Amino acid sequence: MTKEVYGAASGGRASSIPLMGGDSEPTIFEISVSGRRCGAIRDSGIESVDASDHLPLAYLRSEPVALPEVSERDLVGHFTRLTHRQYSVDLGAYPLGSCTMKYNPKLADTVAGMSGISGVHPHLPSSHSQGWLEIALEIESYLKEITGMAGATLSPAAGAQGELTGLLMMKAYHLDRGNHKTKILIPDSAHGTNPASVSLAGYSVVTVPSNEKGLVDLELLKSLVGDDVAGIMLTNPNTVGLFEEDIAEIAKAIHDVDGLLYYDGANLNAIVGIARPGDMGFDIVHSNLHKTFATPHGGGGPGSGPVAVAEKLLDFLPGPYPVRGHDGIKWTTPSKSIGRVHSFYGNAVVYARALAFMKALGGEGLRQMSQIAVLNANYLKAMISSYYPPAYEATCMHEFVVSTAALKKSFGIRALDIAKGLLDKGFHAPTVYFPLIVDEALMIEPTETESRQTLDAMAEALIELAKDALDEDAASKMAGGPRRTPVTRVDEARAARTLITTVDAHSK
Ligand SMILES: *Cc1c(COP(=O)(O)O)cnc(C)c1O
Repeated sequence: MTKEVYGAASGGRASSIPLMGGDSEPTIFEISVSGRRCGAIRDSGIESVDASDHLPLAYLRSEPVALPEVSERDLVGHFTRLTHRQYSVDLGAYPLGSCTMKYNPKLADTVAGMSGISGVHPHLPSSHSQGWLEIALEIESYLKEITGMAGATLSPAAGAQGELTGLLMMKAYHLDRGNHKTKILIPDSAHGTNPASVSLAGYSVVTVPSNEKGLVDLELLKSLVGDDVAGIMLTNPNTVGLFEEDIAEIAKAIHDVDGLLYYDGANLNAIVGIARPGDMGFDIVHSNLHKTFATPHGGGGPGSGPVAVAEKLLDFLPGPYPVRGHDGIKWTTPSKSIGRVHSFYGNAVVYARALAFMKALGGEGLRQMSQIAVLNANYLKAMISSYYPPAYEATCMHEFVVSTAALKKSFGIRALDIAKGLLDKGFHAPTVYFPLIVDEALMIEPTETESRQTLDAMAEALIELAKDALDEDAASKMAGGPRRTPVTRVDEARAARTLITTVDAHSK
């Protein structure tokens, strides 16, 4: 038994499992050996329960579910090999613009894993979970301070859900005031989730074109503002990494028609401790704790996208949320609440991590985080700008956009080829082809966690790639890259259109 549980020495496919760098890793089903187990469950002595006595026949399986049968050794080996085939924030620089893939300090994981935090059941009554509720109130207070808002909800599980939550509050606000509004303005550089959330909330999108400086065109914006405008979704610095200098006037134009300003603060990395959306005139701000405040993300979550609001929206916050009373912290729901947007109170362990990160850095440390993020982005931009012309000249904030359109003219090398080439040089690729308004865009966000040595190495790698693009032989090699990764160039269009994620796909 022990050997079956802990060891894989007993044959099976163990000897044929490739080591790191091999061509393929079998699926966990392929290394399954009948009877192998990952843990020995002790016999409780309690008589087993027959499910058919308790569940309707229609819901019972006719055969046991096909689960992989592996020992702990097989299991750990399998996932360790998979992690070796993957690029991650723990491995190196990950300059994915807009997404803020910074290194996540292990301290935050340690705190979130403490039994008093991770072992608390969400169904506990508030009298037995005062510690957790303190955590919630504390992070809320920091978020209010950072964004300049009056209240916040920690319910939303991601940025996109925060957007929808904020827009539903905006809608409830207008309905409450008897406003008839149908439109929301969004600049053409915005993140794709913005128009999607607007549609989900039942509004129509009006696109505001950017000017040649990459900023919202104020006069054009004013011409689009009317009584039917519910609000605007903006982010500042915007999605090309530039600060919207006319923000005060934009806010006035929107407020003049009783519209609201929504701040897409998915990425607050440029402004923490320096500028506050509330002071710029925004009414609703979501922030992605899994981006700015260093909790792991990518691959679909879990995340946390709290929404902070101005005084006039407090009554519409989703409920229930915790408030401090004279006899401890209790759950409450505001009078005009839009209702529940998530089970319990959001992804709690994610905001516990973010709180640990904030407390470890402290106020001054958080400001420095933003200062270094901005400095790093400008440094890298300057290092590569003679090979990669920036899409806009102005000093950037935490990220910048360059265009590789000129390289395309030489031997047809595209932004995608440069991104793939960077993988061969040991760095993760930046964001590509976003924002849509820049031709052959590379959007680079080095973040504050990379050292000057790393930035220099990244600049050198990018410059080598730009030089290769001008050499016919090197360019033709680059077009098929990456070559040094476990999976080389894939047909991305086909992968997106005929997505097959089942085991069967491997045998086809
Ligand atoms: C990441 C991001 C979002 C969406 O956040 P998710 O947590 O992925 O839903 C929205 N806006 C901007 C600017 C972003 O960078």
